Amino acid sequence: MNLYNTLTKKIEKLIPHKEGEINMYTCGPTVYNYAHIGNLRTYIFEDVLEKALKLEGYKVNRVMNITDVGHMTDDGDDGEDKMSKASRLTGKTPIEIALFYTEAFFKDLKKLNIRKPNIIAKATDNINEYIKIIEGLLEKRYAYISNGNVYFDVTKFKNYYELSGKNPDELKIAVRNDVEEDTYKKNPFDFGLWMTNSKFSNQILKWNSPWGIGYPGWHIECSGIAIKYLGEYLDIHCGGIDSIFPHNTNELAQSEAYLGHKWCNYWLHAEHLNDSTGKMSKSKGEFLTISLLEDKGYDPLAYRLFCLQSHYRNQLLFSYSSLDIAQNTYNKLKNKIRSLILVSGDYYDEKINDLYYNKFIEALNDNINTSNALTVLYDVLKDDDLSAEKKLKLVSIFDKVLSLSLFEFEEKEIDEDLRYEIELKIKQRAKAKVKKDYDTADKIRLELENKGIILKDTREGTVYEIRRN
Ligand code: AMP
Ligand code: ZN
Repeated sequence: MNLYNTLTKKIEKLIPHKEGEINMYTCGPTVYNYAHIGNLRTYIFEDVLEKALKLEGYKVNRVMNITDVGHMTDDGDDGEDKMSKASRLTGKTPIEIALFYTEAFFKDLKKLNIRKPNIIAKATDNINEYIKIIEGLLEKRYAYISNGNVYFDVTKFKNYYELSGKNPDELKIAVRNDVEEDTYKKNPFDFGLWMTNSKFSNQILKWNSPWGIGYPGWHIECSGIAIKYLGEYLDIHCGGIDSIFPHNTNELAQSEAYLGHKWCNYWLHAEHLNDSTGKMSKSKGEFLTISLLEDKGYDPLAYRLFCLQSHYRNQLLFSYSSLDIAQNTYNKLKNKIRSLILVSGDYYDEKINDLYYNKFIEALNDNINTSNALTVLYDVLKDDDLSAEKKLKLVSIFDKVLSLSLFEFEEKEIDEDLRYEIELKIKQRAKAKVKKDYDTADKIRLELENKGIILKDTREGTVYEIRRN
């Protein structure tokens, strides 16, 4: 598999540390609010990546954190803790808020067919890991204590600017500057590892530490959780592009400074989902959620398809008109599959070593090119030389990665027995047509029509519609 690596700014062949196994860490949500559909775009990409790796036979060990403490409102570490702020505004405790939005996040994952990573770890459950790393960093003099807080000294870490590929002046412009700078830092990009003395006295979640009662910085949680569950070597680290600086940059610096060797070989970043006013963000106040799209009548999986239609490294512009198109495409796709099922026999024993299968894998290997992978799917459905069984076999394999539930049909309005009867009649009619027994075929069609069931013959087979009056 070839992947674009933010660290080297190149497409590189994936070579894992341990043959056949991938250690994959993905930054998780800050649970002070619902995930917006932009966040979910990033999680959809990570899900496809994990499933593509698995399709190719890798064992994937995947870990994700849940940020329930320490993520500051300026995304650096100078603002207020996002969880504390939400607590102040709602009157609920940070724990209550975190639990509520973690559950909401899991529901969103389910709706979008995003597999939950093997390990999901809460930042607040791993305080001892951070303390251990911070002690190590102080010992190695990468960290210093000032005004009761422990900071990481970025000037001590040689390659601090490598991941972002930007120089300090460029980064200063990129970082929000509407929060007052912490004057106890030695250098502007130094970041908090442990705070005992914050200007925000309302910090509710606090723990004992060798430096006094306080709380961890945001960045240390990802290093602590990744090292605890995946060991000293990561193959892949993922996030949205906004996390390159400062978050991933700081994770990388503190992890490598602590471990004394290279930590992660491939850094992957998904581009943003934008709306007509710019980047979608939670702090903007109003944002789109998957539940909102559902309320408007969209299938969450049509949103998944919408995301898969473009490459994860391209910005994606959200609009309802483009989601309408995706929903329409999704409906057509499922109708095609349904009509194939109606005319097919058993399709599970086909071999998979096939030109289309190889093309599908090739598209994924090409830096997770999901739009090309979808093109392969459409080509399979269009190919008149393929049997319905073969088409279904291929599509069912593709859907292991695309996860569009192409084989699940909601027929709530149709009674099970009736559906069975219709499908049986359609099969009988197809058989009659093959034998050129058009009388029988027409009789079946009329019989169904009298019951308000209208058959339509399409390229992929027969579909039906129920007309009620
Ligand atoms: P957060 O919950 O804010 O920590 O963000 C969760 C994930 O969503 C991170 O990997 C972010 O980089 C990513 N993200 C944030 N905004 C967007 C966006 N507009 N489009 C895509 N991904 C985003
Ligand atoms: Zn992270």
